[in-house]
Amino acid sequence: NQLADKVALVTGASSGIGKAMALFYAREGAKVVVSDIAEDKGQQVVEEITRMGSEAIFVKADVSNPQDCEQLVQQTVNVFGRLDIAFNNAGIGGESNPVGDMSIEGWQKVININLNSVFYCMHYQIRQMLQNGGGAIVNNSSILGQVGFANSSGYVAAKHGVVGLTKTGALEYASKGIRINAIGPAFINTPLITNLGEETLQALVKMHPIGRLGEAEEVAELVVWLSSPKASFVNGAYYAVDGAYLSQ
Ligand code: NAD
Repeated sequence: NQLADKVALVTGASSGIGKAMALFYAREGAKVVVSDIAEDKGQQVVEEITRMGSEAIFVKADVSNPQDCEQLVQQTVNVFGRLDIAFNNAGIGGESNPVGDMSIEGWQKVININLNSVFYCMHYQIRQMLQNGGGAIVNNSSILGQVGFANSSGYVAAKHGVVGLTKTGALEYASKGIRINAIGPAFINTPLITNLGEETLQALVKMHPIGRLGEAEEVAELVVWLSSPKASFVNGAYYAVDGAYLSQ
């Protein structure tokens, strides 16, 4: 139980990587705040954690709305008294089009949900963490926080932005006991991509030297470590978890 007595918040925790992460934090002994816009599926994650004998609550929050992000941290403190760990993970795939055809709305939507949200969340999380003497934040970027991907300009720009925000936050709060890191998963077997159809999925598999897609649990293993005291000297870093995708 690496995270006994810690309070951990996960956004986008109703599905995929966020759900896996909520379960991992609970397994490591943390009290977990499961947050998402998808309420029913989020409540199911809470029930699963309760069945494991751990504590969790669901808080509905749209991370593209700053008031929701503020209220999410407030609810966390109201119920569990503090905030030690945050995994800023909620995100969407966004519109698929080259820059000349990408709609203005499509661009703004993915920047709001995948980038602005991380700033809003960090803004309120950091203020709270300073009050309880420190903490650890992990932001879910992507391999597309390091390289481009055709027809995904908004997503790629947002994920690169998350890496910049992570590094800058780490510089600002390193001396105050808050560590802020980013992770870069390659394509992971979650509803975000499994809706793409068999042909596209096979093409994606071929892009990974390891010869398969990743699993949410393989990402969660990295995030647990980054969130734990074992990673005490790791700060402002970007860790790929990508089956060698970025080594090409
Ligand atoms: P997913 O679709 O399974 O889960 C995403 C969750 O985010 C959903 O439960 C959804 O309801 C929630 N969400 C969407 N918009 C939201 C909003 N405005 N406010 C709050 N919650 C919202 O997808 P996933 O693959 O688990 O993705 C999680 C994160 O991982 C995303 O940031 C994604 O960009 C990133 N990522 C995914 C992959 C991949 O291949 N699956 C690869 C790299 C990075």
